[in-house]
Amino acid sequence: MEAKLKCFDCRSSELITEFIANYRYDECGLPNIILKDITQKRCPNCGSTFVSIPGMKGLHRSIAIALISKNSKLTPAERRFLRKSLGWSAADFARKFHTSAPVVSRWESERMPNSMSTANELLLRVLVAQGQKIGNYQEHMEKIELERKIEPVQLILNHTGRKWEEAT
Ligand SMILES: [Zn+2]
Repeated sequence: MEAKLKCFDCRSSELITEFIANYRYDECGLPNIILKDITQKRCPNCGSTFVSIPGMKGLHRSIAIALISKNSKLTPAERRFLRKSLGWSAADFARKFHTSAPVVSRWESERMPNSMSTANELLLRVLVAQGQKIGNYQEHMEKIELERKIEPVQLILNHTGRKWEEAT
């Protein structure tokens, strides 16, 4: 195990220390996504931490499924995450939903979180749901907005075998 790893930040060639810990996946743009037991490397010289997340595609799919299964409305950041999971630019989103770029920008803006109609939100969820069977999605369509509060989804995800699953 004499890998010649160099720190990306300080270029130190000191051996980078490996450890396993839960990782807060802020890079996905959502505030409360915790990945369990992720192998990370810390540079003993500058303290920078480097992480390598397995199964990115499956991870993003698991997060997307959790989002479209929420009973409360989506937060702006969650709308953005789902839009990106479809591979759409903001302009694509506007075009497909027969609206304008400024409207899409408000849907994804933290300052005006209520401006997306339930009908449009359901349509977005259905589009994300396409391509993978989601057991009780129809039930969720009826329940959405029963909880009036808008709260970001909170997830703890575990990479078991080859799949990302919600930790219980
Ligand atoms: Zn370093």
